[in-house]
Amino acid sequence: MNNPILLQNLRNVPDFPIPGIQFKDVSTLFKDPECLRIIVDELYEIYKDKGITKVVGIESRGFVIGAALALRLGAGFVMCRKPGKLPAETRKASYMKEYGKDTIEIHTDAITEDDVVLLHDDLLATGGSMFAAYGLVQQFNPKRTYINFIIELTIEGLNGRTLFGNDVEITTLIKI
Ligand code: AMP
Repeated sequence: MNNPILLQNLRNVPDFPIPGIQFKDVSTLFKDPECLRIIVDELYEIYKDKGITKVVGIESRGFVIGAALALRLGAGFVMCRKPGKLPAETRKASYMKEYGKDTIEIHTDAITEDDVVLLHDDLLATGGSMFAAYGLVQQFNPKRTYINFIIELTIEGLNGRTLFGNDVEITTLIKI
């Protein structure tokens, strides 16, 4: 938790994409071989005995570690994408963002009732996008669903975790 090498390498970009936002830029972690290894190793240690069969990554930063971790866990990797990107039949979930509505999709045949799912994204802020993804995954009725982020923002009163019930296991590697 809060590995100093990850904290040192994480870039903060003030006022991106709009004034007032402190953007945590994980691209500086992804480009560094040591950081990439630390993230995947730490996540592997947390999830290696949970019986994960599918890692679901949220577009697009959730794809990077999601796929690497799936490979380490011996699990499959599933893309949770923005509307109109997935070519076959999908299930969809819509949710409200700061400015208007957003939709996410997963292929109908991507998850089954036999799966143990790990949902992964880079960062937890309000939790709105992960809450929608969690609801979407639950439509598939998997055996169990875990949630992980690399970074959890708790500054400025953000407490995205509280959207989820206490029975949902959420892990994060860095708390800021
Ligand atoms: P939320 O739904 O509010 O939890 O927002 C999470 C999503 O928005 C993640 O996919 C993040 O990549 C992105 N995001 C929100 N706030 C930030 C931030 N301060 N720095 C970097 N990414 C952010």
